[in-house]
Amino acid sequence: MLELDLGRLERDGKLRLDEAVPPDDPMWQGTGLSLSRPLGVHLEAQRAGPDVVVRGAIEGEAAVSCRRCLRDVRVAIDEDVAALFRSGVDRAEAEEEEVYPLPARGRDLDLRELVREQVLLAVPPYAVCSEACRGLCPRCGGNLNEGECACGEPDVDDRWGPLRKLKLD
Ligand SMILES: [Zn+2]
Ligand SMILES: [Zn+2]
Repeated sequence: MLELDLGRLERDGKLRLDEAVPPDDPMWQGTGLSLSRPLGVHLEAQRAGPDVVVRGAIEGEAAVSCRRCLRDVRVAIDEDVAALFRSGVDRAEAEEEEVYPLPARGRDLDLRELVREQVLLAVPPYAVCSEACRGLCPRCGGNLNEGECACGEPDVDDRWGPLRKLKLD
């Protein structure tokens, strides 16, 4: 669980958390993320007056669709994390100051939102499997990386395309 015992942090001043979050963990639901292996989370929390500073790193791998041919592309996740959990602010104030609200005394510190946001920032929505990727045929949808499709040579020279479209309009 990506949770820190704030009572223990208060006593010890410092707390380490090492977790592997599996790709099917409910915390990824609704994010559209597809991890290809468990996400390694290595964080250290430290008290800073009434606040808590969380620092460390996350590492893993996600699968993203190639924007040309839709094939899965593996994207490495390797990010440093640094976040401040400020006491006495509500959610709106925290968002404005780009910090996280520290829960009231006696509650656990939930790090799932922080980790989720970091992963979403690290993984691009689209990628290209290779600069040479030829993508899909716009007419039949055939994968042109696997050879010519049934339509034959693709129209590379399409400078009349916009004009043709105008005429049709
Ligand atoms: Zn591709
Ligand atoms: Zn085709």
